[in-house]
Amino acid sequence: MYLISSCLAGVRCRYDGSDNGDDEIIEFMKEGDCIIACPEVLGGLDTPRVPCEILNVDGEKHVVNREGKDLTEEFMDGAHRTLEICRAAGVTAAILKFRSPSCGFGRVYDGTFSGELVEGNGLAADLLHKNGIKIYSENNWKEILDD
Ligand code: SF4
Repeated sequence: MYLISSCLAGVRCRYDGSDNGDDEIIEFMKEGDCIIACPEVLGGLDTPRVPCEILNVDGEKHVVNREGKDLTEEFMDGAHRTLEICRAAGVTAAILKFRSPSCGFGRVYDGTFSGELVEGNGLAADLLHKNGIKIYSENNWKEILDD
């Protein structure tokens, strides 16, 4: 079973109320064996919402919105709820939206809202990865077919 970021599946759950619908991923989903989730919605955040980025403070990850509000707790809550769903559904791999403070894997925005990227993982992607779920993004998800 695969988990797909809801926004990649065409759900308008992005911070600005739009989606990142990817036609090829949506086509792949039609074959079945996929569920969708948006960790930020699961964390209780509204759509639309003020954009957030990850800030490293004294070695600790904080998720802060552009107005300076710390939403780490909501993001962690959403990450844990996403993991619970994955466990219940038997998810072994996930296709997640890159760069997001929840779903990004490998590279995320640096916390300055300037478009700069740094090495790191979004909170949900990181938690799923640490619990044995293989993470793909929209740029490499087709490797899932070979694994
Ligand atoms: Fe998409 Fe993930 Fe952001 Fe939700 S949290 S809008 S699924 S990137």
